[in-house]
Amino acid sequence: MRLSRYFLPILKENPREADIVSHRLMLRAGMIRQQAAGSFSWLPLGKRVLDKVNAIIREEQNRAGAQEILMPTIQSAELWRESGRYDDYGKEMLRIQDRHERDMLFGPTNEEMVTDIFRSYVKSYKDLPLNLYHIQWKFRDEVRPRFGVMRSREFLMKDAYSFDLDYDGAKAAYNRMFVSYLRTFSRMGLQAIPMRADTGPIGGDLSHEFIILADTGESAVFCERAYLDMAVPGADVNYGDDGEIAGIVKAWTTPYAATDEMHDEKAWEAAPIEGRVSARGIEVGHIFHFGTKYSKPMGAKVTGPDGKEHFVSMGSYGIGPSRLIAAIIEASHDEAGIIWPKAVAPFDAVLINMKAGDPGCDGACARLETGLENAGLDVLHDDTDDRAGAKFATADLIGAPWQVIVGPRGVAAGEVEIKNRKTGARESLPVEAAINRLAQEK
Ligand code: ATP
Ligand code: MG
Repeated sequence: MRLSRYFLPILKENPREADIVSHRLMLRAGMIRQQAAGSFSWLPLGKRVLDKVNAIIREEQNRAGAQEILMPTIQSAELWRESGRYDDYGKEMLRIQDRHERDMLFGPTNEEMVTDIFRSYVKSYKDLPLNLYHIQWKFRDEVRPRFGVMRSREFLMKDAYSFDLDYDGAKAAYNRMFVSYLRTFSRMGLQAIPMRADTGPIGGDLSHEFIILADTGESAVFCERAYLDMAVPGADVNYGDDGEIAGIVKAWTTPYAATDEMHDEKAWEAAPIEGRVSARGIEVGHIFHFGTKYSKPMGAKVTGPDGKEHFVSMGSYGIGPSRLIAAIIEASHDEAGIIWPKAVAPFDAVLINMKAGDPGCDGACARLETGLENAGLDVLHDDTDDRAGAKFATADLIGAPWQVIVGPRGVAAGEVEIKNRKTGARESLPVEAAINRLAQEK
């Protein structure tokens, strides 16, 4: 991709409306554009990251046995009247009427709709377990939209819904999502800590929020340092083995970790004092078991092996991909800009031509661009005639893991420079060697 042709509206000045670093950097790097309070367009650079994040979420949902669907954003109030939530949900729900004056709403979540799909088709325990998810825009009329995409009104959510015959089945489904979340966040370079969360009237202990520690987080959290070194299960984890999965959940719920609302001073004080971390955190995911809360009022039941009808036991599992991107930036940036973890970087490398128009530099850049792309890398080739200083600043700001710097002196000596965005380490190499090196690093 040539920067001269790429829509990358970089802001030179710090936007005044941005209070936290991720919001500031997303605006400055031309990733998003605010359209109204809490509503954002995703520009090409931001959209690339969003797609990468969603791809990882999908892979890990599918691996854990969930199946992707896509439900509408606009829902009928009728369904929500069945569960009783049309009246209960409050002002966060955006209510709309169509031309026939029928009550509609912009979905803040999809429990009712997915329960309706389930009850229409599934009649037997033999079709269970079932877990359906989608990645779709939600609207919540937040009292205080702020911090850019961290807390917006229209935001993307991956929401999965599990259906099982009984509590034991639902718990196994919950555990699969728990493990899938550990893998999802870790693949994005994040250490997310599962913390006990409020289960409200449902009771029990099957509710966890996945939290990224960050000073700008909105929740106060308490956890043991042990979490920071725990190894996440590999891709070979066996989701078909309930015992193995339960074992992983046990290990990840044994050290103390709770959000403010669930904090238990006594249990906290029992943890070794040097291992206690009391910090702030960003909620990037939330998993929740709610049993028959929707299946009962909405009549979602299956025939069990006993020949009787059972209301299915359900859970829901959310991740906010848009908030997640802000959380990744909060966790990984420096003075100069964003430092993308490899797996979600919008480009693998920025190729900087220090002297566009110079035949030697242009030639080397063309070879590098083709070579790197053939090796499977996404390259942003800065072929503009900006000064070198401005090009370096842009490359640092948008934060691709690698920069390849091509200048007349290096080219004359048969070399280009590669720079690692994270460590700042630089190395001079011949063109072919630079291509091979970055291909290996991918
Ligand atoms: P919060 O307590 O932060 O308002 P929530 O408990 O309302 O979150 P859930 O209903 O569990 O959130 O939604 C699942 C996920 O969707 C959250 O973990 C979060 O990542 C994301 N999310 C929720 N609200 C927003 C929002 N206003 N803007 C961006 N992402 C959001
Ligand atoms: Mg909320």
